[in-house]
Amino acid sequence: MLLNLKTKIAMKKILFFFIMLSSITSMAQTLKCITHENKPPIIFSKKTNDSLKQTNAINMPYTVKIYVTIFADNGGSNKATTNEHVLRQIQNMANQYQSQNICFLLVGIRQINNTDLNDHNVSDSTENTELTPYMVNGFLNIFVHKYLPGYHGYAYAIPNTYLSVTGNIIESTDVTGILGHEMGHCLGLYHTFSSWVEKNGTVHKENVARSGDCKNCEIEGDVLCDTPADDNGGVDASCIYTGTAKDACNTSYSPLTNNLMAYGDYRCITTLTNGQGERMRTFLATNSALNAFLVHDALYTPVFGNTTISSGTGHTLAREAVYISEGSANLTVNGTARQYYQAKKVSVKSGTKFSPASGGLVSVKSNPYCN
Ligand SMILES: [Zn+2]
Repeated sequence: MLLNLKTKIAMKKILFFFIMLSSITSMAQTLKCITHENKPPIIFSKKTNDSLKQTNAINMPYTVKIYVTIFADNGGSNKATTNEHVLRQIQNMANQYQSQNICFLLVGIRQINNTDLNDHNVSDSTENTELTPYMVNGFLNIFVHKYLPGYHGYAYAIPNTYLSVTGNIIESTDVTGILGHEMGHCLGLYHTFSSWVEKNGTVHKENVARSGDCKNCEIEGDVLCDTPADDNGGVDASCIYTGTAKDACNTSYSPLTNNLMAYGDYRCITTLTNGQGERMRTFLATNSALNAFLVHDALYTPVFGNTTISSGTGHTLAREAVYISEGSANLTVNGTARQYYQAKKVSVKSGTKFSPASGGLVSVKSNPYCN
């Protein structure tokens, strides 16, 4: 926590997150989640790609605001997991995305008691609409359930603004990629072994070739050429591909078994390619729903004289720094008001005074998930 608090600062209520590591027994199961098997993949136009490259927007850092809801049963028992496990897996996800210039600003973790949603059937569309009232507006929502029958994680659509994972996946210490995998779907990524079938039965699959007549990696599979064609043919305990199938051009597959968007043994999946990073940043830059989750690198938020806030929730969020300035100011936050300041560094000018009063809350919090 980097707080520049020198003198006369009264902060009666400050929220801190503590990261505690704990060990959980290992697990080996088959991952199962959303696919797009009945429709063609989303492919960006050359115009969109060129435009993002010409402005260098594609190479900018992207910071995504996230909010976590942990379900429990009515009355609060059978909580899907703990805050500490969620924080550990968000750190894992941040590590996996760091090389692709995408990071996460965790704004909150809350518990919702709802027995039905704690045992959530993602295949049942009527049950899915029950999630809607629990979306926290303005953030990419991560829901953690005790049970998702048949699934370990689910992203509902590609791209999407929310995802679900199970508590046992969050509590695993040797499976670290499921949250990042579902996040990949939300940010526009398909499985590395993705294929789809037309109504007339025509099957579309990616070939292994990266040149010549068999090359189709730009329009089939995950529509990325730096992830090798993948038939999801099996992976051993050492993360070595064990499949023997050949593609339509009679070439053997050699997939990336450690890719975050592969299946196989999901203890192996931890990495993203540069092509995947670029595709996610393209979605973040051009998809209006995802674009709304981005924050600036730095924000300056002056507090002049004596200011009182009595209602509403204010979020002053940035990737690198939030500067709360003018010294000798007194910010009183009372009633139902909530005022949150969060970034890698929050700087408060000497002499500024926070006065949470009569139920109000001021939160000054560092964010460790953008480095
Ligand atoms: Zn998936």
